[in-house]
Order: sequence, then structure tokens, then C-alpha cells
Amino acid sequence: MIRINPAVRLSFGLVILMLSILLLAQALGLTPNVEKKQLAARQQISETLAFQVLLAMSRMDERLLQQMIDNAVMRNPELESAGVRFPTGGYMRYTEDHDKKWLLKESNHSSPEFVEIPLVLSGVNRGALEITYVPLTAGEKSYFGLSNTVFLVLFLCCSAFIGFWFFIKRALHHLDPSSVVPARVRNAMNVLAEGVFILDKREQIVLVNTALTSKLKSDERRLLGRKASALGWKTDDSEKSLPWEKTIATGEKQMDIRLEMPVNKNETKVFRVNAVPILDEKGNNQGVIASFDDVSELEAKNEQLQLLVGKLAAIQGAIEDKNRKLEYLASRDPLTDCYNRRAMRERLDDEFAKAQNSGKDLVCIMLDIDHFKRVNDTYGHGVGDVVIKMVAQVVKEAVRDSDIVARFGGEEFCVVLPNATVEQVKIIAKRCRMTIETQNCGGVKVTSSFGIAALSLGAKSPNDLIHQADEALYNSKQNGRNMVSVWQPSMVIESGPK
Ligand code: GH3
Ligand code: MG
Ligand code: MG
Repeated sequence: MIRINPAVRLSFGLVILMLSILLLAQALGLTPNVEKKQLAARQQISETLAFQVLLAMSRMDERLLQQMIDNAVMRNPELESAGVRFPTGGYMRYTEDHDKKWLLKESNHSSPEFVEIPLVLSGVNRGALEITYVPLTAGEKSYFGLSNTVFLVLFLCCSAFIGFWFFIKRALHHLDPSSVVPARVRNAMNVLAEGVFILDKREQIVLVNTALTSKLKSDERRLLGRKASALGWKTDDSEKSLPWEKTIATGEKQMDIRLEMPVNKNETKVFRVNAVPILDEKGNNQGVIASFDDVSELEAKNEQLQLLVGKLAAIQGAIEDKNRKLEYLASRDPLTDCYNRRAMRERLDDEFAKAQNSGKDLVCIMLDIDHFKRVNDTYGHGVGDVVIKMVAQVVKEAVRDSDIVARFGGEEFCVVLPNATVEQVKIIAKRCRMTIETQNCGGVKVTSSFGIAALSLGAKSPNDLIHQADEALYNSKQNGRNMVSVWQPSMVIESGPK
């Protein structure tokens, strides 16, 4: 929006007012009427000339008559031509070109330009005197192609506008609210990096420092005298009124209030505002002094930081996810998805220590597919893999989620069952044995042998536990396979494998 300087606006208004008054005066007939005076003069000239013509006619002196009308036309610039006509119609005498200039028809009355005066001498009609005048306005001077009147109006308007503007500008300067603030106070305010304005009781800005004008991308002239609340501030949703409004209403200072101000289409400034009342000696509220801390950059940086923190959290989540997957993969056997031997050893060590501390039992099953080499040899390695997966599945389904099922070797599995009794595990192992026996892997059937050992049966360490379970498995193999054996001290293998 274009803001017109108040001095210009006021001057323009005053010029319009002056013109209106002039028009009214003219309408009321208060202005001098130039035309009227001109007509009176013409009447006088006409009468004088008519008298002189009659005098010459009475003397029957046509030469004198000619001289008189010629002189009259020559001396008077308003007179264009003159002529004396016989009552019958023809001209007795006339000045040069009068017959061409005289445009009044016989029937017409005289006009300001064409005057006809009857010449009567001793009661006898001797004809008429015709006088041609220049048009009434033709006497006016012309300036720059404009008529005198138009030029006068324009001159009046322009000179009055300049005069008014100059005067009002000076008057407004004296009325400037900032002029009540001493210059050294203003200078002191301008030194501050923080934006500051001072308001009177009606919230009108009486002082604004340079820091604030530059932050608001405005200037002192635009802000002074304006209502501070009308500048376009935006408050947080929780705030209904502006800090200085509250201070004026309650007399209490308002601290650290967040305000936003859009300074142009693409930029909004954010301020932390403090408003403190200005009190007189009697404690009456005289206005407010408000300070503006520009936190736009800080907030923008904070926002960026929040974004970054969010991104980092997401990255961290993704890394943790990846780590979990890696950890999972590192601890699993790819063919069966059971724990691998290394991971099983770690879990077993933990569970063994826990069981020792808690006094609860820890049981271990070792199982091996019978005559598996034959399966491979007869049906191929691929079918052998399918059989291994089937056995793993059967075992996993037979135990609890908290139990540890591991692929210990090629077709050998180890299951660690914390908080279980040997009797319970025996039942589980038997169930597995029977299920495996009844499975049919594409026409291939297998059996499996089991060995059970437990902390309660005398295992002193995780190694001991595995070893004893292996000894029990060996026992099952030795006694015809497809069976479950629980470790006993007599099963100790003296030498050789299993
Ligand atoms: P036993 O009843 O005494 O256990 O006889 P066995 O033939 O099963 O003997 P053993 O347990 O020693 O045989 C293991 C065989 O398992 C040897 C190897 O060819 C086979 N094997 C080991 N790992 C894999 C595997 O990942 N896939 C397949 N298909 N075969 C495997
Ligand atoms: Mg085997
Ligand atoms: Mg084996």
C-alpha cells in the first residue's frame, strides 16, 4: 500500500477546500464581474461615438464623419469596425472591412459584439450607427496556451499547495510525539542492540530505537504516533492480548512473551518481549517501555537442531535394528534358523550360572539322526538338508520359546532347557523321537537317538553337561538307536568317539 505523507494529504485537502470556497463565492456573486464592467464601457463608447456621428451629420460633413469613426476604431482596441447606414440600407460611411465584419442580420437585436444605434436628428430617422466589438473574452491574456482564468486557478492551487505543505510540515514537526523525548535519551536508546519502543497511555508509539526499526524493516516516521497493537503482531495461541496492552490495563510488567511479526512476504521475525509500566510520581501509569529480543535465528537454529535430532534418532533406530539383525544372523545357523554352536555356548554358560545360583535344574538334550550318511548317499545332499530342517522344526515345536535349540554339528542338535526337570525333558525327547520317526520327507524316513544330561544329575560345568549328554546319546546309538537315554555315571566313555 502506498502511504502518502500526512503533510501532503493535509495540503491537498486544504487546496480542495479553498477551491470550493472560491466557487461558492462566485456562485453567490461575491467575486468582481469583469464582463459587466466591459459591457458598461462599451455602452459608453457606443453612446459617445453615436453623439459624435450625429454632430457630423448635422453639419453635413461626411469627411468629419469618416474621420470620427476611423479614429474611434484606431484608438480603441475593443472596437473592430464601425459604419453609418442610410435608413434605406446602403452605407453612408464605414471603416475598412466593416461590411465583412458586421454579421448582425437586420432582424436581430444588438449583442455585446454587434451594437446598432438608431440615428435620429430633429425627429427624423437618419439611419443607424453599426459598431463591431471584439468578443468579450478576447481581451483576456493567454499564458502557455491557457486562458487567464484557468491559469489563475492553476496558479492559485499550486502556490497554495506549496504554501500549505511547507507550513503543515513545520507544524507537524512541532507536534511530533518524538520531539517530547530528549535527544540524549533517544541517542542512548539507539545505542542498544535490543529493540525498544516507548508507548503513551493510548498505546501510541512515542519513541522507537534504530535497532527495532531495522529489525521490523520499517522507519521511525512510519512508526511514530501509530498504535503499537495495530502493527500486525502475532501472539502464541495461549496469549489473547499483547504484553503492553496487559501492562497498561494492569500496571504489571510482562516478561519474556513470544511475539511474531511478518516483516515481508518471506520473512517473519520472532521476538521475546518484556513490557514494563512507566509510572509518574503518584504511581499512575503513564505508558509502557517494551524491549524486543530478536530470537528468530535462535528459533530457526533450534528447529534445525530438532530436525537433526529426529533424523539422528531415526538413524540410531535403523542402526540398532541392523545390529539386532546382524546379531541374530551371527547367532543363527542359516539352514535351520536354530542357534549356532558358538551362540549356544554363550547362552548355556549364562543359563548354567543362573541355574547354579537359583538352585533350579538345567537339562540338556543331545540328539543325532541315525544313519544319516545313508540318506545323503541314497537321496543326495539336498534331500539330506530337507531332513535336517524337518528334525530342527520338530524339536523347536516340542520345546518352549525360552529353551535353546542349537545345531551342534552336521545332523546333531543340542537343546538346553532351563527350569525343567529331567522327567519332563525325557517326555519331550520321547515325543520328538516318535514324531521324527513318523515324518515322511518326500519318501525318506529317518529315526534319531537322544541323550539327556542335567545339572541335577551331576554336571559340574557347561562342558560337563554337554559331554554327559553326548555320552547318553552314545549310549542310545550303542543300544540300537531310535531311543532316549538319560545319563548315568556308568555311561562314561572310556576312549574313542562317543
Ligand atoms: P550314526 O547313526 O552313527 O549317526 O550314523 P551317521 O551316518 O548319521 O553318522 P554321522 O552322524 O557321523 O554322519 C554325519 C553325516 O552327516 C556326515 C555328513 O556327510 C552329513 N552331513 C553333515 N552336515 C550335513 C549337512 O549340512 N547336510 C547334509 N545333507 N549332510 C550333512
Ligand atoms: Mg548320525
Ligand atoms: Mg552325527
